[in-house]
Amino acid sequence: MTTKQDTFIHTGTTNVPDERGYYGEYGGRFVPETLMPALDELTEAYHDAMHDPAFQGRLADLQATYTGRPTPITFAQRLTDYLGGARIYLKREDLAHTGAHKINNALGQALLAQRMGKRRIIAETGAGQHGVASATAAALLGLECHVYMGSVDIARQRPNVFRMKLLGTEVIPVDSGSRTLKDAINEAIRDWVTNVNTTYYLLGSALGPHPYPEMVRDFQSVIGTEARRQMLEQVGQLPDSCIACVGGGSNAIGLFHAFRNDETIDLIGVEAGGRGIASGQHAARFADPGIGRPGVLHGTRSFVLQDADGQIMNTHSVSAGLDYASVGPEHAYLREMERAFYTLATDEEALDAFDKLSRLEGIIPALESAHAIAEVIKRAPHMPKDAIILVNLSGRGDKDLDTVMQELGE
Ligand SMILES: *Cc1c(COP(=O)(O)O)cnc(C)c1O
Repeated sequence: MTTKQDTFIHTGTTNVPDERGYYGEYGGRFVPETLMPALDELTEAYHDAMHDPAFQGRLADLQATYTGRPTPITFAQRLTDYLGGARIYLKREDLAHTGAHKINNALGQALLAQRMGKRRIIAETGAGQHGVASATAAALLGLECHVYMGSVDIARQRPNVFRMKLLGTEVIPVDSGSRTLKDAINEAIRDWVTNVNTTYYLLGSALGPHPYPEMVRDFQSVIGTEARRQMLEQVGQLPDSCIACVGGGSNAIGLFHAFRNDETIDLIGVEAGGRGIASGQHAARFADPGIGRPGVLHGTRSFVLQDADGQIMNTHSVSAGLDYASVGPEHAYLREMERAFYTLATDEEALDAFDKLSRLEGIIPALESAHAIAEVIKRAPHMPKDAIILVNLSGRGDKDLDTVMQELGE
């Protein structure tokens, strides 16, 4: 049952960000001067919408009747027995429409675009998951949608490119730089600068200039708000640990937000360890002090993988959704406050977790989510049997079958 409280988005429940969009020393707005008025307009429209029961009601209705919320929590009995420690519960974002949590944010922002009278949406995508979520929301609301995507990513993500086309979205190839996500973001920002009066930029994670990190967090906070209530109702107690994978950080902050004032609950984010820290081929912004340090990328100040000259490093992960050189500024802040902890899982550990969850629970996870499961596999055996872990299963693995087949040499 959906309660009104679940679907209401909570703003102002924490002291961050401040009115300039800072989380301690992270966040802010590092954009061309021409975008400042647009970001002000967006901030005002967003705060206005959040306090409008009609907007909240429309979002709640679509969450329930279109996305399929609330998503359940599932007790992972066989994984729990296998690991022999803490009891493991899965928050099932894999069951949301389009197969991942990204629709929560895309739908919220598309509604906001509609409310602001902007009929043209632009977005960027790496693996295509956020592109598909944006295309879906645009189709539902009758908005025009253009998605920037690196030509390398277009070549390796054919099914998602075709999905976006079927949904009526134009996919625009980006041939500059490394022809991947960061170049697609640059192009989307360029488009926005040019067409700012008519265009809404629908950003895909808890990243970018203020107000995006706050807004995306709030649209994703439905994950934790539901899960907290479900734990109390179905299990009778709150978890001891909440675990989620961290790419840009939206599914993790969406889970953590409802638990951040429960000081005894551990909040644990899992980054992509790729081929290991020593290899230099990873996306573990917090784990590699040599190259992961504060810097500015795509409009926000956070931890960024960069060389000695501040050049952005190339990243690697078996999961496209975690393969990004920066991380949402609120995670940098939570880590500094020691409210959340960050660790990593390598490609190999994620593939092992992918295999175990599939065989033991009949759930094929997204490779991103498998990173969170990998941390559960390490941690649960060392916890008492009456302890509880809540892990966010951010998406389903259908999109990753080709990658996994290649990795397993099938
Ligand atoms: C995109 C994606 C992620 C990573 O993005 P966040 O913003 O860190 O949540 C994780 N899981 C899935 C299934 C994704 O599609």
